[in-house]
Amino acid sequence: MLIDLTYVLSQDGNTQEETVALDMTHFRKSKGEFYKLADKSPVQVSIHHEKDQVITITGQCRVSLQVNCARCLKPVRKDLELIFTHRVDVLHPGEDEDELEMSLCIGDGKMLDVDQLVHNEILINLPIRVLCKEDCKGICPVCGQNLNEGACSCDQGPADPRMAAFQEIFSKFKEV
Ligand SMILES: [Zn+2]
Ligand SMILES: [Zn+2]
Repeated sequence: MLIDLTYVLSQDGNTQEETVALDMTHFRKSKGEFYKLADKSPVQVSIHHEKDQVITITGQCRVSLQVNCARCLKPVRKDLELIFTHRVDVLHPGEDEDELEMSLCIGDGKMLDVDQLVHNEILINLPIRVLCKEDCKGICPVCGQNLNEGACSCDQGPADPRMAAFQEIFSKFKEV
């Protein structure tokens, strides 16, 4: 959803409050990696024109992403409460990353792209690894069994066959 900034930018001190719907149905983390938005709240945005086309944008929304556990690949819902504040000089965006990102959300200087804004916030707030539970046991690398649902028969003995060979040699040395 786009917010027209014409009014707020027309005069120093202007403030605009908006509650807008989020258009995005998926969060694109990287090329070919998408997470479905299982749930999302409207985005509350407040834009304040300090002076000389310098604006502060504050806002908040809540999203639930459908992701997979990094260990066992089970689908999990990750709820994110996004609360943000950005300050940007619309005409002369500074060199720092935040201002450059923000100027991309504003594009031609007339419209604020709320979806782009929220996308950036998800990117910052989403943990690199999401687990279904803190002590998730993952899947067996040999047979693919979800180890949270019970052990598999591969679990006896060392996981790495090369290690088993070493142990065998080692025990033979001890016998001599
Ligand atoms: Zn898991
Ligand atoms: Zn196994």
